Amino acid sequence: MFGLIGHPTSLEHAQSVAQDIGYEEFAVEDLDFWCSAPPQTVDEFTVTSLTGQTITGKYVESCFLPEMLATRRIKAATRKILNAMAHAQKLDINITALGGFSSIVFENFNLNQIQKIRNIKLDFQRFTTGNTHTAYVICRQVEQVSQQLGIDLAKATVAVCGATGDIGSAVCRWLNQKTDARELLLVARDRTRLEALQTELGRGKIMGMDEALPQADIIVWVASMPKAVEIKLETLKKPSLLIDGGYPKNLSSKVKHPDVRVLKGGIVEHSLDISWKIMQLVNMDVPARQLFACFAESMLLEFEKWYTNFSWGRNQITVEKMEQIGAVSVKHGFRPLLSFE
Ligand code: NDP
Repeated sequence: MFGLIGHPTSLEHAQSVAQDIGYEEFAVEDLDFWCSAPPQTVDEFTVTSLTGQTITGKYVESCFLPEMLATRRIKAATRKILNAMAHAQKLDINITALGGFSSIVFENFNLNQIQKIRNIKLDFQRFTTGNTHTAYVICRQVEQVSQQLGIDLAKATVAVCGATGDIGSAVCRWLNQKTDARELLLVARDRTRLEALQTELGRGKIMGMDEALPQADIIVWVASMPKAVEIKLETLKKPSLLIDGGYPKNLSSKVKHPDVRVLKGGIVEHSLDISWKIMQLVNMDVPARQLFACFAESMLLEFEKWYTNFSWGRNQITVEKMEQIGAVSVKHGFRPLLSFE
C-alpha cells in the first residue's frame, strides 16, 4: 500500500473542504482549531497501471496550513507533519509521499532529528518527498510546451524562481545537461546558496525577481512561498510561458493575457481514471486523472516495489534519478500536463 500526506492551501480552503466532506461543524473553525486537529485518513482508493497492475493507497490529511508558518506557529506546523507521518506508519503503509509543504517543513526544521513520536519510531525509508518526479515532470513540461508554443529553447532565456530549492536545483541541472536552453536566470533570496548553485552548474546569472522576469521567455516557479505573489503583467515578455509548480500556487490567478500562458506545473495526467475524491478538493480540472507529481512518485515506488525514500534530503536530485523515475512514470501511464487553464 502507498500513502499520500497532503494539506489545504489556506485556512479558507480548509474550511471549504471541511464543508464539502461532511464536517460542517469544522467549516467555521479558526486557525487555532486547525493547530490542534489530529491527522485523519480521508480517502482510500485503487490505482491501475497501464501494465494492468493495481495498487491501493490512502490519503492522510495532516491538517497543516501554510498560515501556521506565516504566523510563527512553528511548533504546531512541525507537530502536524510528524503526527501525519506517524499516522501513515501506523497504518503500515510501505511508501508515503510528503506532499506540498510537508517536506519543506520537515527539512527546514530538521525533523529528521525527532524520530520518536509517542510509541512510534519513524522509519524514514518509508517516506519520499516526491521531488524527483516533480522536477522531472516540470522539465518535460518546459521542453514539450515550449515546442508547442513555438518557443525555441536554443534561443530562450529561462528564469527559475526558487532555483536553489530541492526542485529548482534539479530543474536547473536538467536544463543545463539535457537541453540547449540559451540562458538560465537563477532567482532566490540567499546569495550564498545561489553562488554555490552557479558554481555547480558552471553557468547561470544570479538575479532578483524584478530584474529576471522581464528578460525571461520561460519562467519556472518553484519557490516555497506560503502565499501567491502578484506580478506586473506589463513587464513580462510577450510571448512568454509561466510554469507554476508551487503548492500553494506561486502566482495569483490574475495573470490573464493571450501572450502570457500559464501552465500548472508538476501535475501529471494518468491514462486511467482513479476512483478518489481528493483531487476534486484541490480543484483539479480533471480530478479522476490529474494529480500532483509528488503523489504519483509514491504510486510509482509502490508499482515498482522500490521501498526506499527515493527522494530525500535537499539538493541531491540527479539527472540520472530523474530519468529513472521518468522511465517508470511513462511505463505506468502518467504523462505531464500539457494543456492550459
Ligand atoms: P525548497 O524549500 O527546497 O526550495 C524553495 C526555494 O524557493 C528556495 O530556492 C528558496 O530560496 C526559494 N524562495 C522561497 N521564498 C522565496 C521568495 N519569497 N522569493 C524568491 N525565492 C524564494 O522547496 P521545494 O523545492 O521542495 O518546493 C518548491 C515548491 O514546489 C513549493 O511550493 C512546494 O509546495 C511545491 N511542490 C509541488 C509538488 C507537486 O507535486 N506539484 C511537489 C512538491 C512540492 P531562498 O529561501 O534563498 O529564497
